[in-house]
Amino acid sequence: MPAPDCPFPKKFPSQLIRDDEFFMSLAFNQAIDAWRRDEVPIGCVIERDGEVIAAAHNTVEQAKDPTAHAEMLAVTQAAAAIGDWRLSECTLYVTKEPCPMCSGAMVMARLKRVCYAVPDPKMGCLGGATNLNELPRSNHRCELSPGGALEAECRTMLQAFFQAKRQAADQIPPQKNLDSMPEI
Ligand SMILES: [Zn+2]
Repeated sequence: MPAPDCPFPKKFPSQLIRDDEFFMSLAFNQAIDAWRRDEVPIGCVIERDGEVIAAAHNTVEQAKDPTAHAEMLAVTQAAAAIGDWRLSECTLYVTKEPCPMCSGAMVMARLKRVCYAVPDPKMGCLGGATNLNELPRSNHRCELSPGGALEAECRTMLQAFFQAKRQAADQIPPQKNLDSMPEI
């Protein structure tokens, strides 16, 4: 089944104002790339000294890899780019609050700051469901900037994606629905 059409255009933020909205716009564009590849639309970029040193989107389906979340890929890219596993001068932007795996990776990478758009009370682990940044004996805390930049747009995109996937699934006639086919 092809990816549902993505109704959201990419953003072209001014390069002159490199604020949270600028970097989150680039993460938003990564999420669109994910949608176009029929992946859950979550995108991530990592900034250091005003420059983007990593950009990635979720590729779990294509890679058939449960660890291929946007943030994991971006953290690996960023460490390779600066030649150090410590990302203590970097800010990570992601369109949805990170899951347990990615939140853990962010603390382990000693990111300076994490900015996420859509809080996730179900699986988010930087304040939504729980907060891995507050482990009592951990010696690193990321600065957190939850919500804010592009929160509404990123939420709308995620909701629209799952709605489109549900509609596409509903339109498959029962005899062509692979899930309902008898095992051969
Ligand atoms: Zn994750």
